[in-house]
Amino acid sequence: MPSAQPKSPQPLTLIRTRSPADQLLSMVERVTAVGTWTLDIPTGRLQVSQPLAELLGWSAQGPVDMALHQLLECYVPESRAAISDAFEACLQAAQSFDLQAQIVTSQGQYLWVRTVGGAIEEGPLAETRAHGLMQDLTALKQAEQESLSITMRLATTLESITEAFVTLGRDGSFIYVNRESERLLSRDSSQLLGRKIWAVLDAGENGPFHEEIRAVLSSGLNREFEAFFEPTGKWLKVRAYPFEEGIAVYFRDVTAERQSQEQLLLLQTSISRLNDIVLITEAGPVEGPGPRIVFVNHAFERHTGYQKEEVLQKTLGILLGPLTERAELGRIRRALIQSHPVRAELTIYCKSGQRLCMELEIVPVDYFSSGVTHWIVVARDITERKANEDEIEHLAFYDALTQLPNRQLLMGRLRRVLTHTGGKPQIGALMFIDLDHFKLLNDSLGHSKGDLLLRKVASRLSISVEESDTVARLGGDEFVVMLKDLGDSLTAASAQARQTGEKILAALGEPYELAGYPYHGTCSLGITCFDQRGASIEDLLKQADLAMYQAKASGRNALCFFDPVMQAAATANAALTAELRQSLRTDEFLLHYQPQVGRDGMLGVEALVRWQHPHRGVVYPNQFITQAEESGLILPLGKWVLETACAQLARWAKHPETEKLTVAINVSVRQFRQPDFVELVLGAIQRHGVRPHRLKLELTESLLATGMEVTVAKMGMLKTAGITLSIDDFGMGYSALSYLKHLPLDQLKIDRAFVKDILTDPNDAAIARTIVGLAQSLGLGVIAEGVETEAQRELLARFGCEGYQGHLFCEALPIAELELFMRGLTP
Ligand code: C2E
Ligand code: CA
Ligand code: CA
Repeated sequence: MPSAQPKSPQPLTLIRTRSPADQLLSMVERVTAVGTWTLDIPTGRLQVSQPLAELLGWSAQGPVDMALHQLLECYVPESRAAISDAFEACLQAAQSFDLQAQIVTSQGQYLWVRTVGGAIEEGPLAETRAHGLMQDLTALKQAEQESLSITMRLATTLESITEAFVTLGRDGSFIYVNRESERLLSRDSSQLLGRKIWAVLDAGENGPFHEEIRAVLSSGLNREFEAFFEPTGKWLKVRAYPFEEGIAVYFRDVTAERQSQEQLLLLQTSISRLNDIVLITEAGPVEGPGPRIVFVNHAFERHTGYQKEEVLQKTLGILLGPLTERAELGRIRRALIQSHPVRAELTIYCKSGQRLCMELEIVPVDYFSSGVTHWIVVARDITERKANEDEIEHLAFYDALTQLPNRQLLMGRLRRVLTHTGGKPQIGALMFIDLDHFKLLNDSLGHSKGDLLLRKVASRLSISVEESDTVARLGGDEFVVMLKDLGDSLTAASAQARQTGEKILAALGEPYELAGYPYHGTCSLGITCFDQRGASIEDLLKQADLAMYQAKASGRNALCFFDPVMQAAATANAALTAELRQSLRTDEFLLHYQPQVGRDGMLGVEALVRWQHPHRGVVYPNQFITQAEESGLILPLGKWVLETACAQLARWAKHPETEKLTVAINVSVRQFRQPDFVELVLGAIQRHGVRPHRLKLELTESLLATGMEVTVAKMGMLKTAGITLSIDDFGMGYSALSYLKHLPLDQLKIDRAFVKDILTDPNDAAIARTIVGLAQSLGLGVIAEGVETEAQRELLARFGCEGYQGHLFCEALPIAELELFMRGLTP
C-alpha cells in the first residue's frame, strides 16, 4: 500500500486543442483506455491528455499541464523509483521504456497501469520532447488473476480425480493428462501432451483408439469401448465425452474384471460339459413352494429330459413325486434353513415320469459373506448303483427260499424300532411262529414239498399283516412277525396282536395243496409285546420263543402270550442247568439208599440221588430231576447213578451179610430211550462184576405210552441179561394194561399216592388191591412205597403185598448211616 495519498497537480492548466488529429487521438484513447502524455525535457513539464488526467482521477475538460514529479508521485512507492529511473533514462539517453506498475488515483483507487515512454527522435522537437502513454490494465489483470485461480482450481481437481482422465483436442492430441492416467498408461505427460492418442495407444494403424475417437469427433456422441493396451498388457475401458474444444476421456483398468469374466465363461462351459448334474437355485424361500431354479447344465437336461427353458424360474417341486423320500426332503429343508451344506439321496422324476435315484450335494453360496444368495446342487445319477446295492442287500438280507427278510434284517429292524426316539413310545409285538409237525411232512413227503409249504406259509403270513409290519424267516419252519405302532396302551396293543395272531392261525390252518398233494397243517404261535424301553432284542426273541413253546405244550395250533412268570421259571431253569452241569464236573452228587423190606427182612435198597450243593446244602431230586431231564443232563447224571450203584453192589457182594441185597435205580424215560442204554447198563455190570439180577431198574409207566416196540425190545434184552425190571409209580395211569402181559417185567411198584390214603380212601385201597391182584395174576412181584404206618403195612399185607418201602422202616440214608441201620436191623 502507498504510504501517502498523491496530491492533485496544482495548478491545473487546461490546454485546448481541437485539431482533427487531436480529436481522433482522443477517440482512440477512450476506446483503448489509454492516456497520452508529452514531456518538455528542458522545463520538466508534462502535458497529459484528458483521458490520462481522468485515469489519474482528475476531472478535466481537456489536456492538463503538470510537473513530471507530480506524475511520478501517482505511482505506488515500491514502483516509483523504477518508473523515475525509466523517465530519467528516456530524458537523458532517449531510451524508451514499457513498464507495468500500480498507481493510486486521486480518489485513492489502486489501478494497474502500463507506462510506455520514448524520446522524439526526429524533427524540430527532437531532443526537447519525449512522449508516451499510460494504459489501464486493471480489468485485464483482474481477469488474468481470476483465470489463474480457476486454472489452479481445475488443475487440482483434475489431478485429484482418481480415475485416469485426459482431454484431447479436436485433432485427437493430448491436451491435458492427469497423474492417474500417466500411471495407468505408464507414460509421463511429456511423452503424451501434443501427441495423438492413437499414435500412443494403438498398436498399429486403424486401431480401436483411432476408430473410436474419430467416431466420437465426427458424431459428437458419447462412446464407451474396451481396448487392449499392449505395452502394459492391460485391458482399458474407455469413456469418451465430446465437448466444444475436444474430448474428455476416462480410462479404467478392467483387466481383472475381464479375467474373472473369462474365468466365469470357462467355468460355465465346463459346468455345462460336466457329467454331473448341476442346478442352481435362488436362496429363498425355503418354505412354501421353495427356491426357484436359475441355472441347469446340459447333464441336467440329458438326465431329466427337461429343457432349460422348461425349468428355469420353476421350483424344485417339478422334479419330485410320490416316491420322493419326504423325510430326506425334511432333512434338506432343515439344512437350508440353517445355511448348512447337505448331502442326500433322493428319488426324483424325469419329464417322462421315469424315476431316478440321485445322490445330491447341496452347498450354499455366500460369496460376499453377506448371507446366502444361491444354492448349488450337484447331483449324480446313482439309479444303477442303487439297483446293484439293492440286489446285494436283497441277497444279504432276504431268505432265498421265501424272499422274506432273514434273521439279520429282522434284527436290524427290531433294533431300529427299539432304539427309536422321539414321538410317543409305541407298543409293538413280536410273534414266533413254528409249524406243527413240519419235520414229519419233510421226512414223509420230501424236501421239495416241505419247501413248497414254507413258501405258501410265507405268502399267507405276508398277507395277514400290515405293509409296515415285518415277516421274517429265521430258518427251518420258524417265522417271526414284528408288528409296529400298536398305540400306547398295552391292553389295546395286546388285543390287536392277538387278533393278528388268530388271523395267522386261521390262515395257516387252511388246507394246502402241495404239488397235487393235499396237506393240512397248523402252527403254534408265541407273542410278546414290547415298547421302546427296557427290553433287549435277545430278551424279546427269547420271550416270543418261550411263549411259542408254551403254545406247543398246550397242544399246538394255539397262540400264547409271553408270561413273565414263565420267563422267571425259564431263567431259573437256565441257571439251574448251568449249576447242574458244573456240579456234574465237580462230582457234587451222592446217593442215599432207602431199604426195601420183605416178609423176612431187608431185601435191598432204592438208590435216590442227592445234590450236595455248595451253598444250599442237600438238594432233593424233585428240585432238579425235571430240569436235568429237560436239559439232557439226566444222561450223564443217570450214568453216574448207574456206576455208583454198581460199585456199591460190588462192595456188598464181598460180604456175606450184604451179598444178597439188591439196588434199585430210577431210570428216566429219556435215559431209557438213549439208543445205547442197554449197552451202558450191561457194560457197568460187567465192569463192576456184579450179578445182574441184583440190579433193579425202576422204569416209569410213561415209558409205555409210546414207542412200545422199541421199549419191549430193550426191556427184553435187559431181562435176558438177567437184570430185574420194576415199574415205578404204578397205577398213575399211562399203562395199557393189555400190554402188561407182554412186558418182560419182574415187579410192580404201587405209587405212594395210593398208599398215603389207603386207610381212609376206599378208592385208593381198591386200586392198591387191584394192583396186587394184577401182579399176582401176571406172576410179578409187588412192592408198595411210602409206607409210613404199621396200619398201612398191615392192610397192604392183607391184600397180598409182600414188599414195602417207607419211613415206617427207614428213610433214605447215606451209605454209612444205612450200614449202621442194617447192623441194628439184621440179627
Ligand atoms: P420215587 O422213585 O418215587 O422215590 C421215592 C420217593 O419217595 C423218594 O423221594 C423217597 O425219599 C420218598 N419216600 C420214601 N419213603 C417215603 C415215605 O414213607 N413217605 C413219603 N412221603 N415219601 C417217602 P426222593 O428221594 O425225593 O425222590 C423223588 C423222586 O426223584 C423219585 O421218586 C424219583 O422219581 C426221582 N429220583 C430220585 N433219584 C433218582 C435217580 O437217581 N434217577 C432218576 N431218574 N430219578 C430219581
Ligand atoms: Ca423210584
Ligand atoms: Ca415212586
